[in-house]
Amino acid sequence: MRSYDVVVVGAGPAGTSAAKAAALGNAKTLLLEKCPTVMANKPCGEATSQATFKTAGVEPKPSIVLNRAYAKVYAPNMSFVEIKDVGYLINKSLFIQEIAAQAAEAGADIHVREEALSVWRDGSVMRVKTNRDEYSAKVVIGADGYNSTVARSLGISERPEPIPTLQYVMVNCKLECTDAVRFFLGNEVAPGGYAWIFPKSEKVAEVGIGVRGAPAKIYLDRFIKMFEKELGSAKIIDFRGAPVPIGGMIKECVLDNVILVGDAAGTVIPLTGAGIHSSVAAGLAAGEVAAKACQEDDASKKRLSEFYEKYEPWIARINRSLKVMRALEKMTDEDLNMLQSILDASDIIDLANGLDVKRVAMKLLSHPIFAIKLAKAIL
Ligand SMILES: Cc1cc2nc3c(=O)[nH]c(=O)nc-3n(C[C@H](O)[C@H](O)[C@H](O)COP(=O)(O)OP(=O)(O)OC[C@H]3O[C@@H](n4cnc5c(N)ncnc54)[C@H](O)[C@@H]3O)c2cc1C
Repeated sequence: MRSYDVVVVGAGPAGTSAAKAAALGNAKTLLLEKCPTVMANKPCGEATSQATFKTAGVEPKPSIVLNRAYAKVYAPNMSFVEIKDVGYLINKSLFIQEIAAQAAEAGADIHVREEALSVWRDGSVMRVKTNRDEYSAKVVIGADGYNSTVARSLGISERPEPIPTLQYVMVNCKLECTDAVRFFLGNEVAPGGYAWIFPKSEKVAEVGIGVRGAPAKIYLDRFIKMFEKELGSAKIIDFRGAPVPIGGMIKECVLDNVILVGDAAGTVIPLTGAGIHSSVAAGLAAGEVAAKACQEDDASKKRLSEFYEKYEPWIARINRSLKVMRALEKMTDEDLNMLQSILDASDIIDLANGLDVKRVAMKLLSHPIFAIKLAKAIL
């Protein structure tokens, strides 16, 4: 049996970042990926901020950044707010591979086609059994996505509340708007979630939906019909769905010898469903803490709980965004239309991303409808 300081399960944004940070911290590190390739193995809109690249330490090269776009957020009555901050539409596979390369450069081993089947504690170390081998590790980082094997193996039954999503990659689109990602809200369009059109190029778009308590495919196909001119002649070349954990972080992401990160821990920003940046940040924090714990020969829960301190700014954002999401869940389409007419771009950025939500709540406090429905709920 081979021994490692840190075994990271799952090579998505969270796992590659965790392996990089652990290896940079001089931990003997193994990164396991069950798929044949380290790449975006799960559907994703692949939209992210410029700040994600900074956090990840990845240069935004043209091969990774396919398009630059601002955002348009549509109310149910199709009025919209433009958010002029420019973000990136990326080739997520190349982005992840770039982080994997940095992990390898720092000394991490990477095994593809190797699935962690079970993980258990054996005295003061962990054992990881895969389809090919068995390893011992002082710390296991579970970065294996929403259906985390690491979490299930260790009896962690709490799962972040999911929103089912479905996304098509469509080609031969005749997009009217190639310089903006478009988000569409409303109970008619996407009950409990939103629909999106993300332009990868003039003719290629990711078109998707997240809905709660409703069939995603029916709503997505209906949404696409609303854009006959732009999407009527387009063909679907990729058709995939996956749950997005939007219910906030699970209570116990840290156990003795174990840290869960990324979708496995529910580190998605609830209101936007964005998880690339927050997963990278979680992975980096977990890898750094794990490496230090190994050096100190103390992988206890108490020692590893430094992860919560390092990740605190993100935890606060996730919690604030969740609060806003819960308040918005109760809104009718008429409410959303009215809200759209009151909020400006910076208000939407703050609310959606769990940033300065207090400022927006104060702005709404004197409003006859939103004082109670939104402002007080957020405060
Ligand atoms: C339809 C959709 C659209 C989205 N759009 C966006 C967006 O535009 N922007 C954004 O920021 N976020 C978006 N997200 C969210 C984002 O994709 C995730 O939050 C993010 O990828 C989570 O990263 P992760 O590393 O935690 O998990 P994942 O990306 O799920 O990676 C987990 C990895 O672990 C591997 N794995 C799983 N089990 C095992 C095992 N037992 N052994 C070994 N390997 C294993 C998997 O193969 C996978 O490679 C979207 C999600 C969906 C579903």
